[in-house]
Amino acid sequence: MPRASARRAPDVAQPPLPMRDNMLDLGAFWTRLLPEQRKTIGVAAMTMVVGWLGATRGPMSRRDKRWNFAAAEIAGREILAGAVIEALGIDLDNFEAHRPHIGLLGIRVCHLCGCTDRVACPEGCSWVDDKTCSRCV
Ligand SMILES: [Zn+2]
Ligand SMILES: [Zn+2]
Repeated sequence: MPRASARRAPDVAQPPLPMRDNMLDLGAFWTRLLPEQRKTIGVAAMTMVVGWLGATRGPMSRRDKRWNFAAAEIAGREILAGAVIEALGIDLDNFEAHRPHIGLLGIRVCHLCGCTDRVACPEGCSWVDDKTCSRCV
């Protein structure tokens, strides 16, 4: 199966992806999506999460039914990944240039390295201001 970026017509001009603090602004990108793209992405994301929760939580007596939830998680993740990559049209070999701005989720993130309160730098760090950690000054 060809990659999403390879399926795009080469003569279709794509506007540059919205960036903020050198990170991908997926909130701004979401406003560009067509209604059917939003539906596919939204339903796939919810299917993935409900599948994950069902597969990993709940009473042990339901364990024998959890493969149904795991199948939902896998299907949701695969559909979601394909739809998001196709919508973004980004080069999978240059993925590091497209780090999402998770600050848009209301999470404090270092604008230089991407660490957060929950996932600090491997050597440890602290905040020197609202968007810079001590490893990046
Ligand atoms: Zn940092
Ligand atoms: Zn840090």
